[in-house]
Amino acid sequence: MRVKFDRDTCVGMYQCVAEWDAFEKNLNDGKADLRGGEEEDDEDDEVFVLAVPDGEELDAKFAARSCPVDAIEVYEDGERIIP
Ligand code: SF4
Repeated sequence: MRVKFDRDTCVGMYQCVAEWDAFEKNLNDGKADLRGGEEEDDEDDEVFVLAVPDGEELDAKFAARSCPVDAIEVYEDGERIIP
């Protein structure tokens, strides 16, 4: 399972931070940071990807579902399952 985080879209509501500790508040930018996320080279926007560690799949899904602007996408076997 992988998550894709569109940091440009993020509006810093921080619901995701409460759901999954891979996300942390960045109060300077008014955005979340995805810990360990790798920035995608071929994107103009700030898009980060991270392989979800074993045992954290549910937290990742809750984080994605909690985001009011759908800045977090979850992929399973290459297919987007959330949102
Ligand atoms: S819930 Fe969405 S908008 Fe809010 S901080 Fe997380 S990614 Fe950003």
